[in-house]
Amino acid sequence: MSDCLFCKIVAGDIPAKIVYKDEHLVAFQDINAQAPMHVLIVPRRHVASLNDLAESDDALVGEMVRRAAAIAKEHGHSERGYRTVFNCNADAGQSVFHIHLHVLGGRLLAWPPG
Ligand code: AMP
Ligand code: ZN
Repeated sequence: MSDCLFCKIVAGDIPAKIVYKDEHLVAFQDINAQAPMHVLIVPRRHVASLNDLAESDDALVGEMVRRAAAIAKEHGHSERGYRTVFNCNADAGQSVFHIHLHVLGGRLLAWPPG
C-alpha cells in the first residue's frame, strides 16, 4: 500500500533498524522503544488491522508469534519473560494501520496495561 509507513519500511524506502527478515516477515526496532527490547514484527503483505485477517492468514500469524518467541530468546528474555501485543483500532491506540506484533522485554511489565 503506497501510503503505508510499514509497507515503506518493508520495501526499504524508509530506514529502520531491521533485526530479522524472511520471505513473509520483517522485524525492526520500534523508533520509540518502551522497554530495553521493543521490536515490531510485520508481515510483508499489507493487512490493516486484526479485523482484516482471514482464515488463510492463520499460518502467517503463527509465524509472527513464533518469531516473537525466537527474537525474545535471542535477546535473552525467554526465562524472565516478555510481552507480545497487537493493538487494534482506536481504543487500543493503534496508530499504524499495517498489523504489527510488539515484542517487549528487559524490564518488569505491569498488568493490567494502561
Ligand atoms: P501502534 O500504536 O500499536 O500502532 O504501534 C505503532 C508503533 O510504531 C509505535 O510503537 C511507534 O513508536 C512505532 N513507529 C512509528 N513510526 C516508526 C518508524 N518509522 N520506525 C519504527 N517504529 C515506528
Ligand atoms: Zn502496509
